[in-house]
Amino acid sequence: MASLPSASHGLHSADKFCTLTFDYLVIGGGNAGLPIAARLSENPDVIVGVLEAGTVVEDPVIDVPRNVGAAIGRPEFDYCLSTEPQLTASQRNIALARGKMLGGSTGINYTVWDRASSAEYDTLGRLLDPADQHEWCWDSLLPYLTKVEDASSISEAGDTFPGFSRSEEDVFRSGVPFEKSVGMKGAVKTSYNSLWADVTQPYIQGWNTLGVPTNANPYGGNKSGVYNLRRAIDIEKGKRVHASVAYFKPASHRKNLKVLLGAQAARLIFDTSASHEDIQVTGVEFIVDGKTFVANARKEVILSAGTVQTPQILELSGIGNAKFLEAHNIECIVDLPSVGENVTEHVFIPTQYLAKEGTKTFDEFRNNPQFLAEQTALYEATGRGWLAAADANACFNSIETVSRINGNDTLKSAISALKEQIALETKNGTLSRVHQAQFDIQLELLEKKQTATLETFHMSKGIVAVEPGQSYLALFSGIQHPFSRGSIHTRFTDPLKPSIHDSLNPPILDPKLLSNNFDVALLLAGYRLMEKLVNTEPMKKIVQHQTLPPIILSKDEHVEAFIRQAAQPGLHIMGSAIMASRELGGVVDARLKVYGTRNLRIVDASIIPVPLACHVQATIYAIAEKAADMIIADKSV
Ligand SMILES: Cc1cc2nc3c(=O)[nH]c(=O)nc-3n(C[C@H](O)[C@H](O)[C@H](O)COP(=O)(O)OP(=O)(O)OC[C@H]3O[C@@H](n4cnc5c(N)ncnc54)[C@H](O)[C@@H]3O)c2cc1C
Repeated sequence: MASLPSASHGLHSADKFCTLTFDYLVIGGGNAGLPIAARLSENPDVIVGVLEAGTVVEDPVIDVPRNVGAAIGRPEFDYCLSTEPQLTASQRNIALARGKMLGGSTGINYTVWDRASSAEYDTLGRLLDPADQHEWCWDSLLPYLTKVEDASSISEAGDTFPGFSRSEEDVFRSGVPFEKSVGMKGAVKTSYNSLWADVTQPYIQGWNTLGVPTNANPYGGNKSGVYNLRRAIDIEKGKRVHASVAYFKPASHRKNLKVLLGAQAARLIFDTSASHEDIQVTGVEFIVDGKTFVANARKEVILSAGTVQTPQILELSGIGNAKFLEAHNIECIVDLPSVGENVTEHVFIPTQYLAKEGTKTFDEFRNNPQFLAEQTALYEATGRGWLAAADANACFNSIETVSRINGNDTLKSAISALKEQIALETKNGTLSRVHQAQFDIQLELLEKKQTATLETFHMSKGIVAVEPGQSYLALFSGIQHPFSRGSIHTRFTDPLKPSIHDSLNPPILDPKLLSNNFDVALLLAGYRLMEKLVNTEPMKKIVQHQTLPPIILSKDEHVEAFIRQAAQPGLHIMGSAIMASRELGGVVDARLKVYGTRNLRIVDASIIPVPLACHVQATIYAIAEKAADMIIADKSV
């Protein structure tokens, strides 16, 4: 692992950093923080500072596409967080990876590049006051979704399965046309694989056999169907593109952009003498190598520490639920009861199958040392070959499609039970107004055909208990609009004490996975869907037999038990500081400003008010680009 030298790359020492008064101070150099810092520093008349707890990482574990997933659980790249025991998921403490580096979670994620449906983006503003709702919708976000990406290495999605013969009726095009929905000049280079494991074709054809069409442009607002996904990979270099590569590197020469690494933001500093009703943030107290420093901000502080750390920093600064703060002896500066609440996470259930002899999968790297050596040499010489490839196919299905394929009304009765439960809790007064509003939106989305309820993707390799010389494939089915709601709160009261690098000291991370029975019913449907898929003729050509779970589970109650024991987070955790009206329980307004403050914004996955059916990095980049424009417009810099 190599850390870049400091001064020559816009990186700075803590002492020097603190001599400056920044116009804008960004906390967290990740998926959202770096695009904001890069955009704001385009104006040479403002000084922008970034406090990042991680460091610059240049390492094959991060950069080489074949290694996706390998950084998870390694403390040099991952905060290695763990949840509280999940009572409805077999009491497990479940690992929850978050990227610890300049680039944040974009440095350790699976590189998948997609979007939610237009109907979902249209709900982003729905919890705001009516006058503000137009600010956040598909039409207002699409220009930013295209602005962030460079897809110039690809042509229309129809060309992306070389050698595949597909009939016209297997492919559909809808929504915004390809050329208007896909960006060609943005900061993040994206691409399709140029090589495919033997699982890809049967996987696509298997879905087609089940009547699920191939979607030629899932980026145009219609999410449903099976498709090949782009990844944040620079195909020319054969390397991952994370936020530091896309946004920091090109801006690192700017004299007005200063990045401090290894700096843990502890709390916000306020000017308490001001007469204004809303408080003014003047700086950030932070820790480097155990020493405390203060950085000053003249105009704004932008909090982009991610869904897990953002609520902790707010609470340690006295912004949060007054009762919680009082109980923890933290002086309450702004009472915002929703800080750290409304947390949602996608949840996936895995299955694994032994592949028939001769099926080429990524297990080849494990089984064939000569192949590994040849491909390593090829990759080192050209950036091409199997080390530059990774799986990237997914199928997104609506409730209607899932029910049609599964051939039963189980989900219909699960939806009725869900509605009854919501009605009862509303009547009893046990359902908060914000949850009512969120659930109304989610129930609406369940009815929409173009919006996915379940994602099912595959991995062309074994994931558990693999035997030498054998090849496998794994399928994962995951809920996209969970009804379970969890929370994230600070464990500590002294902001200067805890180190976020100490994995034993995480915030109280309690996503309450599977606490709503409807989520379990959906995963059960997802499990049955995977069974249907592996039993299609195209899939039967490559699948020998199931190895996870080790026996066929015919009874629903046995599948439910497996779900509670084996379900895993999708690592798209969102919603700990939602954008909603203050009356409803919002933390930020339509301009992402924290209520009760004059100059504090939150820009990261924590503001997403209703879970989105996608892998979230592209959306977070787009939110950050939009936020940068808002900040510039509001201050007329
Ligand atoms: C293993 C994994 C796989 C994933 N796969 C995909 C995928 O394939 N496709 C996809 O779209 N999404 C994927 N995701 C999700 C996606 O990458 C994240 O949800 C998203 O990047 C989070 O963005 P963020 O800005 O909210 O936080 P981050 O990008 O995590 O940024 C937060 C930054 O703040 C820093 N920070 C935190 N606390 C402090 C502090 N106190 N002081 C200073 N700095 C601090 C962190 O070090 C980090 O750099 C995956 C995530 C993970 C972890």
